[in-house]
Amino acid sequence: MTEKNECGCGKSTGETPCGSGNKQPPDHFNNWLHEQQLQERLHRIRHKILVMSGKGGVGKSTVAANLAISLSLSGKRVGLLDVDIHGPSIPKMLHLDAANVHMKDGAIQPVIHAGVKVMSVGFLLKDRDDAVIWRGPMKASVIKQFLTDVDWGDLDYLIIDSPPGTGDEPLSVVQLAEPVDGAVVVTTPQDVATTDVRKSIKFCKQLQLPVLGVVENMSGFVCPKCGEVTDIFKTGGGEKMASEMKVPFLGRIPIDPAVGQACDAGTPFVYHHSRTETAKAFERVIAPILALSAHDETVQQNQKEEIAMKIAIPIAEGKLAMHFGHCAEFALIDVDNTTKTITGQKRLTPPPHEPGVLPRWLHEQGVTVIIAGGMGSRAQALFAENGIKVTVGAPSEPPEALIAAYLAGTLQTGANVCDH
Ligand code: ADP
Repeated sequence: MTEKNECGCGKSTGETPCGSGNKQPPDHFNNWLHEQQLQERLHRIRHKILVMSGKGGVGKSTVAANLAISLSLSGKRVGLLDVDIHGPSIPKMLHLDAANVHMKDGAIQPVIHAGVKVMSVGFLLKDRDDAVIWRGPMKASVIKQFLTDVDWGDLDYLIIDSPPGTGDEPLSVVQLAEPVDGAVVVTTPQDVATTDVRKSIKFCKQLQLPVLGVVENMSGFVCPKCGEVTDIFKTGGGEKMASEMKVPFLGRIPIDPAVGQACDAGTPFVYHHSRTETAKAFERVIAPILALSAHDETVQQNQKEEIAMKIAIPIAEGKLAMHFGHCAEFALIDVDNTTKTITGQKRLTPPPHEPGVLPRWLHEQGVTVIIAGGMGSRAQALFAENGIKVTVGAPSEPPEALIAAYLAGTLQTGANVCDH
């Protein structure tokens, strides 16, 4: 899709418009601007995952759509980008054949389906059965436009369904959407015997794109009457091949008539069938991908802890006590690290002195930082194990003055007066 420029001549914004002389910015400026816009969009997408296959018809788009919906059902913000320019199947699979995209505030609005933001070249074709004949650079340019001009907003995951093989489309995605977190390679028991799927894995390795794992789809048949799984073809080849190629194996998904029926009905399988064996197989495939954002949450939690600090200071007569282990009282002070202000404070009497008691007690109080005059090295190690940061050698001053200096980065520390 090309947005009209100011003079409405229909040329792309990168071209020189009609009759505008040399008033327009030069091409290199426009290129720079587009690059900035691309980076801004990509910056708001946490994880980008490419779904690939060696051959067509192995269920790659089915896996991509079910993966996107599963992540969305798990509460993640998800986009699904279909870059299969010659045979976009996502619109059909999601019953979005009649969907039209529109522009808002200069950006292409994705179509929202089951909570997932969807974009496909299929939305832009007048006749969905039109054959698209595009050369490599044009494909790269349309993929760039999908990444730059589509209003993806903030996403936890962008799932990118690429056409089978190792052609221009997956290459453009890896180069343009850098860094892509990794690829999921879909295969079938029959496909695994061919060299196509190995080529996909080698392609990823050459581009230093991590292979998140191999999925063996259509692996066994689920009887629609009794639910029993029968291996029609020799299964397990995907796992063997993954191990030979030293990439993870994500699991097997059987041929289940309900998968095809759900696709025909426009709502991917996992949306309706959360308790069947096939749904559980999809869940297993998705687990390592969900783990990517579980890691994000740990990082966020750590960041949150850095924002809200609880600082402990041993006190005697209203000032920092030099003998940490035997002090009669602790000041516990809550600090908002972003505004550098004290948000609350209390004084507490510690439990009777015994080895190991104070680290445990202060950890239970939620303390993240200790400001002390002196402290033995063993105690310092115990606090470190409890995730508490210790500053020693602070002067004997009132806690508020110490906190102010600590937050301003001007706290003067001397010798550790109690290093035993
Ligand atoms: P690809 O993207 O690899 O070309 P598709 O995802 O379009 O393949 O799947 C091809 C056909 O196979 C579709 O009709 C789809 O519904 C069906 N299909 C895919 N996986 C399964 C499965 N596990 N069980 C039953 N049908 C499936």
